[in-house]
Amino acid sequence: MPSALITGITGQDGLYLAELLTSKGYDVHAIIRGQNNPKLELVQRLLPDVRLHTGDLTDLSSLMRAMRDAKPDEVYNLGAVSFVAYSWENAQVTSDVTGLGVLNMLEAVRLYAGDDPSKVRYYQASSSEMFGKVQAVPQNESTLLWPRSPYGVAKVYGHYMTINYRESYGMHASSGILFNHESPRRGPEFVTRKVSRAVARIKLGLQESITMGNLDAKRDWGFAGDYVEAMWLMLQQDEAEDYVISTGETHSIRELLDAAFAHVGIEDWSDLVLQDPRFMRPAEVDLLIGDSAKAHEKLGWKPKVSFEELVAMMVENDLTEQKVLAGL
Ligand code: GDP
Repeated sequence: MPSALITGITGQDGLYLAELLTSKGYDVHAIIRGQNNPKLELVQRLLPDVRLHTGDLTDLSSLMRAMRDAKPDEVYNLGAVSFVAYSWENAQVTSDVTGLGVLNMLEAVRLYAGDDPSKVRYYQASSSEMFGKVQAVPQNESTLLWPRSPYGVAKVYGHYMTINYRESYGMHASSGILFNHESPRRGPEFVTRKVSRAVARIKLGLQESITMGNLDAKRDWGFAGDYVEAMWLMLQQDEAEDYVISTGETHSIRELLDAAFAHVGIEDWSDLVLQDPRFMRPAEVDLLIGDSAKAHEKLGWKPKVSFEELVAMMVENDLTEQKVLAGL
């Protein structure tokens, strides 16, 4: 039975990936951070077979211990401080966890692997935020990186360090440059979930309006469940490489609002959406749109869930969840 170790198990990708690997017969281990982690119960409920190890990406010895105990064939480093807006106010902790944390994880893998550097296959969760002030449209694996936030800068560090470990030590280390990917498990601070939840609450009469930031920003949004399959596929290749994972379609925040409100039968949302500079960013990424031709060719990967299906799935989930919470 192959075994895998996941960091970031409490996030949406960690949960989907752990489910995927469990369904494929893996012995799944995960690193969980902190004392009384509020997400511990969720992980234990959804994934009773996953074995949890206490550790922190900023603490190398805890990662080395987890490697020794889990003895993984594959490591998926999904852990990060991942909310872009927060990263300006907390640039140092974002750099420590999202950037230096990658170095710690790579070191833990390298030290564990000893004389056989390719004994463990490593996946690094890189991000389309690395493209930031985009230097080409659409973006592919060779597009120049120009991050526009402390989060993006930290991800660039992790991306290049992964490539450097592959080239310096012959490690099987791949970096997946994933464009935004969403799901009903997305945190409510991200725009898709913020919108799906508010639209559900407005429809149910639990809330009057939603306050947003920049409605003209555009993103290439896919479904997280599709994207974790790409992570797994990358580690099944003979050669470790870097891949862009995206849908190749871009939509504005306005289009997101159109789709979400239309799903509950509201065509004109102009009076329901307010704007507040509080939700604007000091710098915005431009037109994010990914070219994942390499992933199509080499991995045989394609996204299955469309933008409209994704928005409908998220709004439906929030309608159900909000009804239960409100006792309706
Ligand atoms: P990101 O791509 O990782 O930053 O994902 P987010 O979901 O946080 O943001 C996506 C885009 O939505 C960004 O360009 C934001 O500026 C824009 N946006 C507009 N209004 C909001 C809002 O109220 N909350 C968030 N999180 N983003 C917003």
